[in-house]
Amino acid sequence: MSAKNPVRAMFLGTNSVAVTDGSTTLLIDPYFSRPSRFQLLAGAVAPDSGLVGRILAESGIEKADAVLITHSHVDHALDAACVARATGAVVAGSASTRNIALGGGLDPENILEITPLDPYAFGDFTVTFVPSRHLEFPPGLRQLLGIGQAVEKPLVPPARAWAWKEGGTYKLKVEHKSGSFISSGSANFAPARPGASLGDMRADILLPGIGGLDRKPKAFVDKWFERVVMPCSARRVWLTHWDDFTRPLCAPPRFLGRCGDILLYLQEKSRSLGGPPVELMPWRRWIGLF
Ligand SMILES: [Zn+2]
Repeated sequence: MSAKNPVRAMFLGTNSVAVTDGSTTLLIDPYFSRPSRFQLLAGAVAPDSGLVGRILAESGIEKADAVLITHSHVDHALDAACVARATGAVVAGSASTRNIALGGGLDPENILEITPLDPYAFGDFTVTFVPSRHLEFPPGLRQLLGIGQAVEKPLVPPARAWAWKEGGTYKLKVEHKSGSFISSGSANFAPARPGASLGDMRADILLPGIGGLDRKPKAFVDKWFERVVMPCSARRVWLTHWDDFTRPLCAPPRFLGRCGDILLYLQEKSRSLGGPPVELMPWRRWIGLF
């Protein structure tokens, strides 16, 4: 680890990001089992502990302090308990995330049900869960994906993918003595409730998930950029949730839908507005964050 960038991060597909300062390791939305499209749509899904162990080993992650869950959809929370058990981490997130971790067999003392906007210290990192809004879908899909719904009781896998309901969506503001970043698992610009403030959402680095932005009209993408990216005043934007999460993590990544077009659109937009450099977060390799 260089003295220049004491905090490093690695993108592990979907919204999974590992962050470490060498002493403390945070794992955001770790999703390594990645059931196939067929399994997600038609079957029951469960964490694959062998695969989870392999991905952790390949990533050089032996232990972690916290598994931080932005919202409890399957592509964010399926592996939370499994990863926590393998690394000794606590799982931190919403009441729905707590039920997912309990159903995954994690001991209650290893689960932290967060209070929104409270700061939580993990080593030299301070993490704040800021209530925000999930990307919207048409009503039928919204119902199916459990947006605005909670996981009401411990969820024991295997289960249908739809059982992992949204359970509220949070942006993570992570501060460290050497810098700060914001992770956003779902692309929306609206606060959790109409009129509510997201507070101070400036940071050195922005890690926004762009999954689903490719299905939105240009006007929505423009608004998202102007309300999420520009006010952050980040010096660098690394996009996440850009890959097709129905492919195994060991296969070469492919863009999710038309996220490749969104990348080019956002880069052009940032240039025209004098914004920060916008890049895909590099695939499965450690980078210096700050
Ligand atoms: Zn989601």
